[in-house]
Parts: sequence; C-alpha cells; structure tokens
Amino acid sequence: MKLQAADKIIKMSKLFNNIINSKKTISAQFSAIAKMISDNTEADATVCYLVIDDNYIELFASHNFNKNLVNNISIKVGEGIIGGIAKSKRTTEVEDIWKHPNFLFRAEVDEEKFKSFVGIPILRWGRAIGVIGLYKECVFDFNKDDIRTLETLSMEISDWLASDKIREYKNSFMKERGFNTRDSFKGLSLSRGYGYGPAVVHRRRKAITKIFADDKNAELERLQKAHTQMNIDLDEKFNQSKLGIGEHADILDAYRMFAKDKGWYNKIAGHIEGGLTSEAAIERAYEDMWTRLSATQDTYLKERLHDLRDVADRLLGYLCGDKGEISTNNLDSFVVVAQMMGPADLMDYDYHKIKALVLEDGTATMHVAIVAKALGIPVVSKIKSIFKEIKNGEMLAVNGNEGIVYVRPDEKIIQTFDKKIADKIAKTEQLAQLRNLPAKTLDKKRINTYINVGLDFDLDYIESTNCDGVGLYRTEIPFMTAEKMPDVDTQVSYYKKIMDKAGNKKVVFRSLDVGSDKLLPYWTYSGEENPAIGWRSIRITLDRRAILRQQMRAFIRATAGKELNVMFPMIANLTEFREAKETLLIELEKERRKSKNVPKKVNVGLMVEVPSVVFQLDAILPEADFISIGTNDLAQFMFACDRTNNRLAERYDVLSVPFLRILQEIVNMANSAGVFCSVCGEMASNPIEAMVLLGLGYRNLSISGASFAKVKKMIRSVNTEELEDYINILLDYNQRTLRPQLIAYAYDHAIDIF
Ligand code: PEP
Ligand code: MG
Repeated sequence: MKLQAADKIIKMSKLFNNIINSKKTISAQFSAIAKMISDNTEADATVCYLVIDDNYIELFASHNFNKNLVNNISIKVGEGIIGGIAKSKRTTEVEDIWKHPNFLFRAEVDEEKFKSFVGIPILRWGRAIGVIGLYKECVFDFNKDDIRTLETLSMEISDWLASDKIREYKNSFMKERGFNTRDSFKGLSLSRGYGYGPAVVHRRRKAITKIFADDKNAELERLQKAHTQMNIDLDEKFNQSKLGIGEHADILDAYRMFAKDKGWYNKIAGHIEGGLTSEAAIERAYEDMWTRLSATQDTYLKERLHDLRDVADRLLGYLCGDKGEISTNNLDSFVVVAQMMGPADLMDYDYHKIKALVLEDGTATMHVAIVAKALGIPVVSKIKSIFKEIKNGEMLAVNGNEGIVYVRPDEKIIQTFDKKIADKIAKTEQLAQLRNLPAKTLDKKRINTYINVGLDFDLDYIESTNCDGVGLYRTEIPFMTAEKMPDVDTQVSYYKKIMDKAGNKKVVFRSLDVGSDKLLPYWTYSGEENPAIGWRSIRITLDRRAILRQQMRAFIRATAGKELNVMFPMIANLTEFREAKETLLIELEKERRKSKNVPKKVNVGLMVEVPSVVFQLDAILPEADFISIGTNDLAQFMFACDRTNNRLAERYDVLSVPFLRILQEIVNMANSAGVFCSVCGEMASNPIEAMVLLGLGYRNLSISGASFAKVKKMIRSVNTEELEDYINILLDYNQRTLRPQLIAYAYDHAIDIF
C-alpha cells in the first residue's frame, strides 16, 4: 500500500470517527459521512444505501443529491446497478451508467446529470449490509487508491452500522414499513431431531477499531504470538474431544491444518508489512480470498471459505485476548444461533448441552452441520433474519425434521417437543433391542426389510436398523439440495458414499425422479397445469437423454466391481422401460470399451406406480430383473387424487378393495414370472398397511428408517397364513375403507401395529 493512500485512509478514518462520536443526530451523521466521502474523493455526489431487510436496500444518506430522496428510495437487492452490488458484494465501476444493462431509470431519482459511477459494498460477515456510491458528471476513471481507501473505510462503517444504536435506528424504519418480527421461521433442515432451550447468540467478531499500525515489528510479533497460541489451543481442544472417527473428525483435522497454513499466515504478515494492524490485515487477507473464491460454484471451495472465516475470527479473538471459551456454565441446555459458524466454533461450547443449532446460512455440506450431526444436534439453516432478531436468553424450540424454529414457544409446543424427544429416545432403544432379531413372522416367513434413503441422514439407518439393504435410493434428493446440477464425478461421489455405507448389502438406485412436487432449484420449470401428470421423472430424463446417460455412467462407476441395481420411476409402458434400460446398457458397453472397471452384475428394474404399466406387466416382467411398487404415486393415479392435496387426504384409502386388488394382482404376476417384487411406497412404512402387504403375499418391504422399528415389530408378531385368509374374505367387502376391520383384526390377534 502506498504511503499516500495510507495517509488518506488515516485522515478519512479520523474524520469518520469524529462524525460518529459527535452530538449530531444519526441522520445528520449519515449526511456528514456522505459529504466527507465526497470531499475527500473526486466524487461529484455520494450516496449511501443500507440493506433494511434481506430484500431491500434503501437510501440513507446522500450528498449533492435531492435531499428529499433520503429514506424515500428503496431498491430490491439484485435490481439495478446498486442492488446488483448488494447482491454480488463486489466493488463495481461503471463508465457510463446510462449504457449499463442493469441501469434502472427512475424519474424521481435525479441521476440525469451523472455519467460515471463506482459502488463499494459494505460487507459484514460475508454479507452486504450497504453500498457506498460515488457519482461523476463526466465519463471518468476513478482513482484506484480512492477505491481501495473506501474499501478499507467500509470496514469501519460496517462496524458502526452493526452497533446497537444504528440497529435501533434502522429498526424504527423497518417497523414503520411493516416488517414485523415473527414467532416462527421456516428454514432448511440439516440435521434431524427436536430440541429447545434459551438462545446463545454466537458472536465472535469484534469491531476493528484501529486499521493502521504504529509499529510494524511489534505488530508482526503480536500476530505471531496469537497465531501460535491459537494453534496450541486448537490441538489441545480437538485431542480432548472424544469425537470418534468419521467425516466430522476428518473435517476438524483439515481445519487444524488450515489454521496452521503458512500461505494464509504469510498473506496476513504481508498486509502488516504494508502498514495495517494485525486485525485489519486478517480482514484484508480474508477479503482477498473471499473475492477469489466466492464466485466459484464449487461447494468444496465454498466450505473452505466458511472455515477461513472461522479461523480468521478465532485469530482475531486471540489478538484481543479472547480465546473463544464461551461460558455457558449457568445453563444446562441451550440453542446456539449463529450467522455462520465454523466446525471448531462448536467445540467452544460444552456440546453435550447444545440442544439445537440455528444458522442463518448453511448447506448440508457445511462443515459445522456435518460435525453437529455427528454429535446428534438438530440443525436448521437458511433463516435469513434470525441472527438479527434473536437475543441471548430468548427461548427457542427447533424442529430439525421440518426445519422450523419457534421463538418464545408456548406450552403446547414444548409439550409436543417433549413427546417427540421421548419418542426418539424410545425408538432408539427399540431399534437397539430389535436390531439383531430376525425379521421373521410367527409362521416363520423371512421378510426382507430394506430402507429408503434420500438425505444423508438416512444413511445412518443402514447400520442402526441392521436392514437387508437400501430398497430405494431417491437420487433426486441430493440433486435438490445441491446448488447446481451435479456433474458425473460429483454424482459418483454421492453414490460411492452410499455403496461404502452399505458394504455388502444391496442398494437400489432410482434414476432422477424430479418434477411435480420435487423441483430442482437451478432448473426453470414452465408452469404446468397438472404437474403431477406432467413432464416429470422418466419423461424428462428420456427427453433430455444426456442427463440420464450421465446418471447411468455415475451409477456404473460408483458400483465398479460390485452389484448395480437400477430402477426407473414413472414408467407407463414397455417402450419407456426399454428405452431407459437401453440407455443404461449402452453406457455400460461404453465403459467396458474404455476398459473401465464395471459392475460385476447389473439388475434393471422399474417402479410400478403408473396404473397403465400394470396392464402390460405380462410383457414387461420377462425383461425386468425386479419391480418395486411406489404406492404413493400408484394410489394418486389410481384414485385420480393429488397426493399433495390436504382436502383429499382422507377421501380414499389404500386399504380398500380397488387398491388391494391391484396390489394383489401385481405380486401374483411377479411371483408367477419369478421376478423380485418389493414395495417402497409409504405403505411399507406404516405398520397396519405393511401388515396388509404381508397378507397379500409381499415379502420384500423398503421402509423409511424412522419407521423401521415399528414395522419390524409388526412383522415379528403376525401370522401371515391366517392373515391371508382374512384378507381374501375382506376383498369382497366393497365399502370405502377396510381399515377399521383390519385394525380390529390386528387387536384380536395381538399384532403389534403401534
Ligand atoms: C412412491 O411413489 O410411492 C415412491 C416411493 O416414490 P416417491 O414417493 O419418491 O414418488
Ligand atoms: Mg413415486
């Protein structure tokens, strides 16, 4: 950094501090800051916008602009040049705003006289909380030193904006505009489970009050000391925590290496050499890295950024003597709320007491989420405003299954949570008890019990249930939680993970089943009149064959040397099944020709969930290695009843003559053809319905992990021969539902359906 620029920032920083420490009103302080920036740069006019909720950015101060516009102009984040800066979080120079593709003309804004513009985002914890804009009346090339100076000053402005005083000031505007605080938030579930307790708001970062160092060498020494101590403590902390082995432990190890990384350390030292304090140098090094990595679509690199933020914050803490130990001694349990968190942050708490974790931002691959999950802590993320709204000590109840956070929950919610928590404990105990007992009926029929897998959480059930394998892997779920369409290698890594977890057990991969209620965030869907019977599932992947080919390639590679089971969803006729199967076989042949290692056996099957296919099973079965009944969709199409429509939820019952007859027909046909036949729809996960499946002759069930214990208990208490006779009698009872009779039968025969 040149001395000239350093002088300027020192001067502007002083002026800024004079303004914010003056007795002026806050709005006068805002105006004075805008004027000060104009006076000390080459700008003809200056504006200062603040993000007032997560969607809007509002003009809070201006100089040489129409004064009446202050607090009267708001722009959507992402809209126009300024909204674009708030979204991209990047400094943007525009030579001629009128020619800029995003220029938003608004008659009330007196921008007519201006041409050139430079906008600098005010960043806080990786988010833009405001934008400073400089205008010039002519086409102009802004001085790069001025821009760097303002970027540095924006760090100070950011701290000021985060102060309670300014937050209150901003809140008063938000209230006026009707941004109410809410009592529940919906986010994304990253780790299942229920938990409640007082909030502990995780704030580590301290305001950086001094940007330029008085003594370079003393500063380097400070950095070195803090860095060494931090690493000693991290080593000790991680060695003490008995975390076992697994991905979470690898993450913490990688984090430890990261904290010791020489490249990062040297970058910070370089900025100190340029005249900055250690604190400002850490921020600068982070921002450099952030600018380089934030645009990447690569999730791994993005996670590295979170880790870097965490290590940077930790080091900042050590510089000011705060080693990060957070005292929660007076609390027995609590819920941690953080804007963002690194995996090591979690270890600063007594994690046995953490009942849940709520994050403003985060994905399932985020390291803190993986570690929290390994520790059995429910996690909900992507609740944008929670960090700002929650105060320490405020009661929170977190439903990690559905991704809901209740603020100040009432007694009823707490009671429900207590029951859920008790149920979970009971279920875990039950699972443990049943784990090594055979899934055999009283009349000695061995039932093959598989599990359904979608999210990563489900993988744990493979071990805890001791099931026979995975009867349905819904591959669309990792596609739905990814930020972009996963390429072949990424898919291979997903599929390998499940193969590794399954060991020698069977895994059935279902090809992408998207559309209808399962939408991919990065695809645009043309609004369809009837999406459930629209362009979805195999219809999409047969029409966009490259997607199917890629997925088949990934399946083949992930199961090299093992058995591959592929199942196609929503097949409506033989032609579709043949086309899909052929796609797989061609890919297999291609891989073989490339002399790649291929699976040692390939089984190809289909889901029976579109009624038309039942009437062609005689032709399909000889060409299929297995079938699996998707009772959810089969019922939806049989009864012409939208499965997502609550009004219709009680109207038709799968436990009724038409549905049971079709199920019986399918299993009989499959058995005659000697084709493996299972049920992977929800019926298999509901004890009374699964009981009926056994009575109809089904011997292979794919169950949701959470329901596994209940269904296994039912299996172990039923006599299928007696039940078969009873169901055959019932099949002549043409009433709306047979459920009451079946429940009564279960009672009378002591079949465990609860
Ligand atoms: C079904 O339709 O029953 C099924 C298992 O598939 P999904 O629920 O994923 O549509
Ligand atoms: Mg289905």
